[in-house]
Amino acid sequence: MNHIVSKTIVTTAERTGSGIALEDLTGIRSRVRLRKDQRTTLHSWSFRQLAAFVEYKAKRAGVPLVYVDPAYTSQECSECRHIDRLSRRSQAEFACRACGSVMHADHNASRNIARKGEAAWIVGRESRVPATST
Ligand SMILES: [Zn+2]
Repeated sequence: MNHIVSKTIVTTAERTGSGIALEDLTGIRSRVRLRKDQRTTLHSWSFRQLAAFVEYKAKRAGVPLVYVDPAYTSQECSECRHIDRLSRRSQAEFACRACGSVMHADHNASRNIARKGEAAWIVGRESRVPATST
């Protein structure tokens, strides 16, 4: 299953000229306390395997991939950036308590991850630009 999913992710990125952003979940256990339902999703062996497959296939295809800080990706509104634990109404539903946007929780989180990934990519590119002496 993960072979098929990772292949779809990487070939879609390749076809659309996009990069891939994944949540960096290493060390999350010591840093963040998660609700029980998130714990089962995030710490599953399957997710780590999927990430490893995506990483391998992205590298092989020359598709850029960045890891982003997973903090608040499920609590932040991807429309207005308001962060509120209570906006995440259930595993499936996100309803922003500030602007009223309603989205599937996974869609909202994925938009936040994409935005963070783009920012991380830009920062990484800038850091490789040689500093000019004044
Ligand atoms: Zn909002």
